[in-house]
Amino acid sequence: MDNAGKIGVIGGSGFYDIDGFEKVNEVRQETPWGEPSDKYSIYNYSGKEIVFLARHGEGHKLLPSEINYRANIYGMKMLGVERIISVSAVGSYKEEIAPRSIVIIDQFFDRTRRTEGTTFFGNGIAAHVSFAEPVCPVLSQALYDSIVKTGVIVHKNGTYVNMEGPAFSTKAESQFFKKQGMDVIGMTNISEARLAREAELCYSTIALVTDYDAWHEELEAVSVREVIGNLVETTKYAKEGIKAALSEIPSARDCLCKTALSNALITDKKVIDPETRGKLSLLIDKYLN
Ligand SMILES: [Zn+2]
Repeated sequence: MDNAGKIGVIGGSGFYDIDGFEKVNEVRQETPWGEPSDKYSIYNYSGKEIVFLARHGEGHKLLPSEINYRANIYGMKMLGVERIISVSAVGSYKEEIAPRSIVIIDQFFDRTRRTEGTTFFGNGIAAHVSFAEPVCPVLSQALYDSIVKTGVIVHKNGTYVNMEGPAFSTKAESQFFKKQGMDVIGMTNISEARLAREAELCYSTIALVTDYDAWHEELEAVSVREVIGNLVETTKYAKEGIKAALSEIPSARDCLCKTALSNALITDKKVIDPETRGKLSLLIDKYLN
């Protein structure tokens, strides 16, 4: 096995496993933050260890607002993951970002109502990580380079509006975000990206475009069958691209993700409650000892 940190993959709608990889283990990982969405499946791919998690759980049981994002990300950290590739279905705000294309997200806009559950901090310890650039530039570049080679249309950057859901947007909401220059809309990724940053993990989003959201005047609302058809098609390219990216991703990390907490912790270590500190030991011990 490669000694570099493991690569995690979080699969969303339509992406429930990684076929073509050799599955070596399944782990039910308890975390101080409760239960992750599902067991983690460990795969071996040419000497690299890949840790896969189905975001919505087995059989897609969880709504975006029901996902235990903290447990999902902390579980990855506990299993030795250093980089997370997230795959998720999105609606598009732009004619040129057509269904069946892929966007490598570089920005997020938060329209969720989530506060609790989207940070590891609080309860007696304060930290503010830098989040101006919310994804890992190195990982995103490797994913872009590999996915573009599969022949699918890939947009290099894009802003992802994260709505709360579970219902899709109204036309008014959809037209509003389109006017603001947003690119795509989804329901899950900003919470993961933020927690991954706090956990000093690299994080990148492969967004699979399934439809034009509600703004498009000329198109009737898409059917679930159409959306699933588009999803199945782009998921194939995403999987192929991820496989190819695995050999492109450098072993050592020299991005800023791995030191995200170095200037973020504010609380005087003398006043940190031992229980809170224990829960966060994997993230903060190296800065407090
Ligand atoms: Zn990084």
